[in-house]
Amino acid sequence: MPEDHAQQAKEALGGWVPRGQFVGGAWTSGGGALREISSPAHGQRLATLADASAEDLSQAVAAARGAQRDWAALGPLGRSRALKQAVARLKAHEDELARIDALDCGNPIKGMRFDVTLGTTLMDFFAGLTSEVKGETIPQVGGKLTYVTREPLGVVARLVPFNHPFMFAAAKIAAPLAAGNAVILKPSEETPLSALRMAEIIGDLFPAGLISVLTGGADLGAAICAHPGIAAVGLIGSVPTGRAVLKGGADTLKRTQLELGGKNALVICEDADVDAAIAGAIKGMNLGWTAGQSCGSTSRLLVHDAHFDRVVAGVAAAFDAVRLGDPLSEETEMGALSTRAQYDKTRGFIARAERAGARIAAGGLDTGMPGEGFFVRPTLICDVGPDAEIARDEVFGPVLTVLRWRDEAEMLDIVNGLDLGLTASIWTRDLDRALRLTRRIEAGYVWVNDASDHYLGAPFGGVKQSGLGREECLEEMLAYTEAKTVTIVAGG
Ligand code: NAD
Repeated sequence: MPEDHAQQAKEALGGWVPRGQFVGGAWTSGGGALREISSPAHGQRLATLADASAEDLSQAVAAARGAQRDWAALGPLGRSRALKQAVARLKAHEDELARIDALDCGNPIKGMRFDVTLGTTLMDFFAGLTSEVKGETIPQVGGKLTYVTREPLGVVARLVPFNHPFMFAAAKIAAPLAAGNAVILKPSEETPLSALRMAEIIGDLFPAGLISVLTGGADLGAAICAHPGIAAVGLIGSVPTGRAVLKGGADTLKRTQLELGGKNALVICEDADVDAAIAGAIKGMNLGWTAGQSCGSTSRLLVHDAHFDRVVAGVAAAFDAVRLGDPLSEETEMGALSTRAQYDKTRGFIARAERAGARIAAGGLDTGMPGEGFFVRPTLICDVGPDAEIARDEVFGPVLTVLRWRDEAEMLDIVNGLDLGLTASIWTRDLDRALRLTRRIEAGYVWVNDASDHYLGAPFGGVKQSGLGREECLEEMLAYTEAKTVTIVAGG
């Protein structure tokens, strides 16, 4: 990076300059191709990083194997203490980490502070679960004892996406660490900065090599999946990447956790509290948090015919009122999309829907924003059928497609008619209907008269092609352990 750009980047990041790859407890410059990291809202260059090379990965795996034994030997209390110390240090850097993420991924600073809170809360949660890595005893006949212990897998890799950079970095290393594993974290190549800063802040709390942070793109991800020294891969990402991870890990039989995409439906029934449902639909979009770039964000709004016009008018008015702007401003209600690819993809979806005859009830291609940031207004798309591309494919942006329904069976066919099944939200005041629909909707997480919120310890994950396994709960930690059965025959 030229000298003046480097100085500007340093100033933007509050004087911090990333030091490269965190490998085996030390910083290296990275042996791979150079990558420019810039702010999607301002276009400002933030850093130039060399991707981790195959050699960096091998070093990280070798260091992790040694460190993992020391870490597991610390026992539940020792691991819990170290993780809680990490939580305290990260919380003390909340503003700095939130600022790095706001610059790097374009989301408002308020939302990114919330991400620091969420990431550290989940780390704290898993720090409290270390003593739950426990087994069972099996009834036996005289003189014999059969029991099952749960053991860490060894070296675990976590591949995370661009949309919640720090939150995923902190939360996703926590469960495997709590269970006694070493972790290699690969943040998104688009938003790697806060994960690197996290390593600087907490790296020395753990045996050298226990945590490595390697930055790079799909090639590095593929090398991680194929590496024989890595026992498991946990991916948060898209469905195509999920398939690539499964295929890439097949030769080494990787244990795999996949949290993938969604096309999440919010259903407003005839008997719903309509104003509350409108507010729920807007909240479910996570506009202020990630500009709709959250896996659990509502993206299909299925409205009963009786309320269709009122809901469209209410949501459109709320969308029109959203204040887009500088992610670093406390006044900003929605930032920029995080990458050029996201910007182009989202605009492509809107343009094709419009060309196919959809009505754009709010937003659209014209943002009215000055500058070249990747801004897209919250966009409400009407007058399309359930088979339209915009009603079926994950946009992963601030775009909501409204569909009309009259008959419950027809509505369920639409909700369940996709290969995806991450979240769903139902708005009704009828308990029987709520119970019936929660049973019949194919999704990993269903809210009734609520949307988008996650609750500590409540399993999160998808059915069908939205993923494998559950996260943010005990099951996530146990996924990074293996059962060992022991039978002891006593002499007498
Ligand atoms: P992505 O799949 O492109 O990338 C995710 C991670 O996988 C990145 O670190 C990337 O470098 C890596 N990767 C990419 N190709 C790879 C390959 N062939 N082998 C191994 N690793 C590879 O996802 P993204 O665009 O960063 O994020 C958006 C997607 O993530 C959306 O589909 C969204 O729904 C999903 N997501 C899901 C959840 C969830 O909890 N279910 C949460 C957030 C995001």
